[in-house]
Amino acid sequence: AKKVAVTDASTGIANRSNMEMALINEFERSKRYNAPLSVIFLDIDNFKDVNDTYGHQKGDDVLVAVASLVQKFCRTNDVAARYGGEEFLMLLLLQFVRIAFKIAERVREEVMKITFFGNEWPFSVTVSCGVTELNKDFMKNTEQLVATADQALYDAKNGGRNKTIIGHPENK
Ligand code: GH3
Ligand code: MG
Ligand code: MG
Repeated sequence: AKKVAVTDASTGIANRSNMEMALINEFERSKRYNAPLSVIFLDIDNFKDVNDTYGHQKGDDVLVAVASLVQKFCRTNDVAARYGGEEFLMLLLLQFVRIAFKIAERVREEVMKITFFGNEWPFSVTVSCGVTELNKDFMKNTEQLVATADQALYDAKNGGRNKTIIGHPENK
């Protein structure tokens, strides 16, 4: 049998294709049982500046630290994945968006507390989050679930970064 990588080599958490599989499974399960399902889309703020200021290697250290925090805030069957370069997705099973919002805020606050050591000065980073929950009336597939969280993330960036915004599919 072909062995397919399910983890991201540099951070050790699930990779995007693993997340896509989990999304499809949990989306269908949630719909069938009418159970809540939430996602958090998290993106490191001004990460390009981190690389430019402290170097790509230091940027990688930041990614590992954020990945491990994102993982830490998952319960047993939740899935946290590196979804893109400096983007992470958390899939929270049986959670309503209110709780997902609180979890995103806790991750955001914990990230701010981490001190990294750059060339000469210590520094920290911030993240922005978009959260949403499955809405059976508006979301026909996982793309629409992720897109709603992505739109909320975009709103968080436009709103000044270092914040969490709840996305509603009817506002898309
Ligand atoms: P924003 O607050 O809008 O998210 O700004 P940003 O700078 O974080 O976003 P942008 O998309 O402009 O830059 C993302 C950066 O992430 C650029 C890219 O070089 C960096 N990046 C992507 N993957 C990796 C990686 O594996 N390691 C490192 N060190 N950097 C990465
Ligand atoms: Mg990004
Ligand atoms: Mg970014």
